[in-house]
Amino acid sequence: MSKLEMQPSPEPEARSPSHLFYLSSLRRPLVDRAEGIYFWTKDGRRFIDGSSGPMVANIGHSNRNVLEAMKRQMDKTTFAYRLHFENEPAEELARKLASKLPAGMDRIFFVSGGSEATESCIKLARQWAVVTGQPKRWKVITRFPSYHGGTLGSLAVTGDDALAESFTPMMRVMPAIPAPTAWRDRDNLSMEQRGVRYADMLEEKILAEGQESVLAFIMEPVGGAATAALVAPDSYYPRIREICDRYGILLIHDEVMCGSGRTGKFLGGDHWNCRPDIVALSKGLGSGYAPLGALAAPMRLVEPLLAAGGFQHGHTYAGNPLACAAGLAVLGEMDRLDLIANAAAMGDVLIDELKALQKRFSFIADVRGKGLLLGAELLADPETLKPIDPARKATQRLLDHAYARGLIIYGRKVKGGVDGDNFMVAPPMIITREQIGEMISIIGDSLEALA
Ligand code: PLP
Repeated sequence: MSKLEMQPSPEPEARSPSHLFYLSSLRRPLVDRAEGIYFWTKDGRRFIDGSSGPMVANIGHSNRNVLEAMKRQMDKTTFAYRLHFENEPAEELARKLASKLPAGMDRIFFVSGGSEATESCIKLARQWAVVTGQPKRWKVITRFPSYHGGTLGSLAVTGDDALAESFTPMMRVMPAIPAPTAWRDRDNLSMEQRGVRYADMLEEKILAEGQESVLAFIMEPVGGAATAALVAPDSYYPRIREICDRYGILLIHDEVMCGSGRTGKFLGGDHWNCRPDIVALSKGLGSGYAPLGALAAPMRLVEPLLAAGGFQHGHTYAGNPLACAAGLAVLGEMDRLDLIANAAAMGDVLIDELKALQKRFSFIADVRGKGLLLGAELLADPETLKPIDPARKATQRLLDHAYARGLIIYGRKVKGGVDGDNFMVAPPMIITREQIGEMISIIGDSLEALA
């Protein structure tokens, strides 16, 4: 995902040299198999997937019905190029997805991942503006910090200087407003007043940039990796919509991490009945069974493009029958097992447990999130916002302790605006109360080591 994403510290080298490289040359244990919420490594260890990888494996690993559906599809065809053939799994998945999205969000465009999804949203917005006679609109306002992907287009709207710095000559970094970290503010305003104040920063930014040049605003309704599950005050969401409407700006919701049921509703924005103009989905949509992502938009945005010659955007593997069959089976399992309701119920259990840990450890400054997308921020003194560790190594130590005890939790290097050490817990939506108990006991032990 990004160089700010953290991994447990390296283990002693015991294997032959590798030709692989990724973010670094650190070696990880070799995985053998995975089932439900667990991984087993070749050397015989078991890990609880407490973050569903990077919040991907929503329905858990090795779901038999999904594997069977994929095998059935493999026996027919794994690939049929979009320009040559339509395929039934893509058709059916689009229909099923539209039925779960807010009314009118019924035009679906498939891609193969999260960065492709957010980039597609931006390109759709831009082409819509061009074909509807608004070619001066091109700026996409984002929030700082935020993460919307690693391709140059999605990186341009990622509010993160460290990730962008090597590439700035090759792209335009888009304007940003602060993420709504209202819980940190020390003023006399209520949370709802703060929510309005953070939303009003969008209006100020639009006016500063020149309203005729602004195309869209992109945000995660429930924050992901860059903000450790940050949730804005309720007043933020309708105010953002109001401002976008006032200036004719498209509202893009990046639901790559918070969508697909993880927060206890199909979309994160459904908690506030949000009406985005374009939605990006990925991660939980394919749940790790196949690379899959999607853009959803209403006919009023898509029709003008199609009438003007089509969406000038495409990726070879997008909408392939195998990935779509996997996605369709994933949504089928989500319905059959009522996993969104389970995410809501188990999310309540998990957040209560994290809040109980907060009572035990005074350095847990904030516990937040929705459903099974939860985060905690660590500060030495929540009142003065003094960091728990001046070297900002607390998250690393926490991750290492948990990993050594067989639990994977998620951490990211500290960013401005949300600058305590922090961690995220986001297990698969099939998790049970007992399994939450198992996770919490390891998290408690690991926090003990920080105290
Ligand atoms: N958007 C959000 C909110 C994400 O969290 C991510 C990845 O973590 C992306 C986009 C990019 O997704 P991918 O890594 O699949 O390209």
